[in-house]
Amino acid sequence: MADLEKKLLHYTGKAIADYKMIHKGDRVMVCLSGGKDSYTLLTLLNTLRLKTHNKFELFSYTLDQGQPGWDDSGLRAWLADSGIPHLIESRDTYSIVLDKVADGKTYCSMCSRLRRGNIYRYARDHGFNKIALGHHRDDLIESLLMSILYSGEVRSMPPKLLTDNKRHIVIRPLVYCQERDIAAYARQQGFPIIPCNLCGSQANLTRARVKQLIAELAQHNPKVPSNMLNAIGNLRISQLMDKRHWNFGGLEQQMLELDPSDSSEADDSPEPWDQGPVARLGGIPVITE
Ligand code: SF4
Repeated sequence: MADLEKKLLHYTGKAIADYKMIHKGDRVMVCLSGGKDSYTLLTLLNTLRLKTHNKFELFSYTLDQGQPGWDDSGLRAWLADSGIPHLIESRDTYSIVLDKVADGKTYCSMCSRLRRGNIYRYARDHGFNKIALGHHRDDLIESLLMSILYSGEVRSMPPKLLTDNKRHIVIRPLVYCQERDIAAYARQQGFPIIPCNLCGSQANLTRARVKQLIAELAQHNPKVPSNMLNAIGNLRISQLMDKRHWNFGGLEQQMLELDPSDSSEADDSPEPWDQGPVARLGGIPVITE
């Protein structure tokens, strides 16, 4: 087995174990869009299924949304070769999007909502208890930064999610895998990719900008992307400002009686703003340049 495949399998297996994504007897439906990420996910999960002697069931679901130019002949041939049970279902959501979305607005939000609805419906009707999506590390960290910068929320894509109606569990086994490894693997494997620009919708410029920003930061410090991923799993609630999750009003009750002779607890550690171009003035941090 090639090194790259070993690396991807290692990270996929680790994510599945860390977040308890798949259990014995699970019926896992992989959403195969025809892009590099979902082909990689399906291939890796199929290898893991074989390695675990069919401890779980695997099924591939593709939705043909009726975009002009959609050609799934390569995908069909690949699936037939793979021996993985599958379905390519046709639902013309593209016409609905064209009809409902006002001129000048982007299609993606409604298109994804309609796609999600079809995926959930199929999984429910056919008894698949897990829905696997191909989002990877770079999707997670870009989503985190987009959410902070443009929505004012700290959120991303969880590795395992119970849907609001509590009927489905969505899993993202590639959360530890880097996009560039997936892209290289997809090239190695020669997956018959279906291009994702068929709908003619504008590219997501915000995501592209955020991606570019992370890439620039990573040129100076290659650990930036992995640090961002670690941050998603390493919250320090007391160091944030969320009143719903931290009882600021109750801190006084937690205070120890002050002993004036005890100086052992003096905290000399520098605050983040004491480093770099920031200094303190009368206890208030001020920018010095
Ligand atoms: S790029 Fe096209 S197919 Fe993809 S979500 Fe947007 S509208 Fe839908």
